[in-house]
Amino acid sequence: MAEKLWDFKNESMPLSKLKELQLKRLKELIHRVYTKNKYYKKKFDETKIKPDTIRILKDIEKIPFLTKQDLRAYYPFGLVCTELDEIIEVHASSGTTGKPVVGPYTRNDVELWAEVMARSLWANGLRSNDILQNAYGYGLFTGAHGFEKGAQKIGAMVITISSGNTERQIDIMKDFGVTTLACTPSYSLHIAEVAEEKGLSPSDDFLLRLGTFGAESWSEEMRKKIEERWGIVAHEHYGLTELIGPGVVSECRYKKLHINADHFYPELIDPDTGETLEPGEEGELVFTTLTKEAFPAIRFRTKDLASITEEICECGRTLPIQSRIKGRSDDMMKVKGVIVFPSQIEAALMQVPGISDNYQIVKTKQGDTYSLSVEAEPSEDRFREGHLDDFEKKVEQEIYRILNLHILVHAIPPKSIPRSTGKAKRIIER
Ligand SMILES: [Zn+2]
Repeated sequence: MAEKLWDFKNESMPLSKLKELQLKRLKELIHRVYTKNKYYKKKFDETKIKPDTIRILKDIEKIPFLTKQDLRAYYPFGLVCTELDEIIEVHASSGTTGKPVVGPYTRNDVELWAEVMARSLWANGLRSNDILQNAYGYGLFTGAHGFEKGAQKIGAMVITISSGNTERQIDIMKDFGVTTLACTPSYSLHIAEVAEEKGLSPSDDFLLRLGTFGAESWSEEMRKKIEERWGIVAHEHYGLTELIGPGVVSECRYKKLHINADHFYPELIDPDTGETLEPGEEGELVFTTLTKEAFPAIRFRTKDLASITEEICECGRTLPIQSRIKGRSDDMMKVKGVIVFPSQIEAALMQVPGISDNYQIVKTKQGDTYSLSVEAEPSEDRFREGHLDDFEKKVEQEIYRILNLHILVHAIPPKSIPRSTGKAKRIIER
């Protein structure tokens, strides 16, 4: 049944109208960056791109990609396309592998962010009478701020607790009657674990009904575990600092990820050749921000692998649908000639009875190649039962069933993997 949409006009316009709007906005964007930013102008001149090069949407393929290296080269404000004076807010990535990516916003950009986040949270089912516990880390990181802006635009009550101090999270959640939790999926499980240690039942002792999770890749199987444990509906959020933060994609109640393509133009490419792929094929997501002012990204390579389809969803939205992220091309591992993504290993693990939600994939360097093993925590009950070699064998069989690959599994005592209040570290190198 069709539902009430946050922005009916833009979320359900016919595909042909959406494409017209995208083309109009793309032309304006290319003209704007060409005239306002000397680096873009230089880059376009070198590849003989002029603002009038864009006649149809497909002409975007003539424009070179924007990569993380470009962003680092022009750190912090080299790619800004407005006066610095017009910027009212700045965010940045963690910068764990070099200089951080900086995201500056004009007043209109902040309003756009609030709008697409309201659209996303509304699509998840958040309403003005909800109380949202915002357990993403506040700081330079975009996550917490995006959720706050969107939830407040809807009129929900936002509890700005930030991440960490898990016992306090539980007290506040109970005392304030929180209905919606916003954090990384792995942190939601850690909160559940600590609640259980305090003698509480996550599914019965709280008013929580909705989870709005993101900033981490998690499998469909992990989603089911979280939903069962908390007794909630859990939704995925996808976005990137380079594009705006969260708010690029909205998950509807049918759990389809609708790309807010009136603002973020999606393309799918072959990650090796850079060639454009057809709808339905799997490849790397590339996005162009059509309406951002301060820091537009043109053909930004996300390194995230997914597919895109253009089908009309039961929810009534016509916005194109993105699959769940299969993995980052950076996380792709080749083991004995087989391509392996961490999400596939997670999916296998979650099938095994008696497993907790905590595991680590261990990459061990041997010369030029890696070998993989998995360390998995059984639940407390399963650990006490003993015969852990049976448990290990079951996990190995499940991995083999999915990947056709023998990977050694070690059962390790419960709570031996460090818990994270933000992004969980699922892959370690030894
Ligand atoms: Zn839908």
